[in-house]
Amino acid sequence: MTDRKGELAANLAKVENRIAAACAAAGRDRAEVTLIVVTKTYPASDVRILSELGVRHVAENRDQDAAPKAAACSDLPLTWHFVGQLQTNKVRSVVGYADLVQSVDRSKLVTALSKEAVRQEREVGCLIQVALDAGESRRGERGGVAPGGVEELADLVAKAPGLRLDGLMTVAPLTGEYAGRQQAAFERLMDLSTDLRRAHPAANMVSAGMSADLEEAVAAGATHVRVGTAVLGVRPRLG
Ligand SMILES: *Cc1c(COP(=O)(O)O)cnc(C)c1O
Repeated sequence: MTDRKGELAANLAKVENRIAAACAAAGRDRAEVTLIVVTKTYPASDVRILSELGVRHVAENRDQDAAPKAAACSDLPLTWHFVGQLQTNKVRSVVGYADLVQSVDRSKLVTALSKEAVRQEREVGCLIQVALDAGESRRGERGGVAPGGVEELADLVAKAPGLRLDGLMTVAPLTGEYAGRQQAAFERLMDLSTDLRRAHPAANMVSAGMSADLEEAVAAGATHVRVGTAVLGVRPRLG
C-alpha cells in the first residue's frame, strides 16, 4: 500500500465511523446515508485510490478541474456529482461527465441542462440547491434558490426532457438566521423535502452536511453527505 492509499484508507475509516455513529444516534439505518467524497483540487490519482478503497460517489465543483479528472477516471465505476455554481457556458462540458448536478438554482440553468442532456442523449439527475440565507426572491451568495422558489424550479426540472428531479441540496449558511445553527438549517431542508415529495415522491435525495457538520445532517435526515477535507486533507488552495 502506498502512503497515500494508507492515509486515505485511514481517513475513510474515520469518516465511516462518524457516519455510523451518527446513524446509530439518530436511530437510522447506516444504509440510508450515502457518502459522496468531494475530490475538488485533488488529482485523478486520488480518485483512483478512492475507487480502489470502495468509494462509489465523488463530487467536483469546478468544471476546469473536473472535466480532465473525470476523463482520466472514466474506466472507474463512479457516480460523478457536480456541486459548484454552474455557468451556462460550462453546461455542455459538465453534462459530458456529471451523473448528477446538485447545484440547480435557476430556470435558465434548467433549460440549458435539458437541451444539452437531450443533445448528448444523457439523463442528468438534478438536485435543487436551496439557499437558506437568501431572501424569498434572491439567490444566495454561494448559489442556491430561496426556499420560496423551490417548488417552481422543481416543477420545471420534472417537466424538462433529459433531466430527472432527484431532490434537494444545501450548504449550511454562514450568515443569516441559520448561521452557526447547522442542524436547524438541515431540519428546514428536510421540511422542504417533505413538501417537495408530496408533488414529486421519487425526488427523495437530501444532500446536506460536509466534513464539519455531517453529524447534524445525519441527525436531521440527510440521505447524502458530501465530505472533502476529512477524507483527502485540508485543500492546498481554496476550492
Ligand atoms: C467543498 C465542498 C464540500 C466538502 O467540504 P469539506 O468541508 O471539505 O468537507 C461539500 N459541498 C460542497 C458544495 C463543496 O463545495
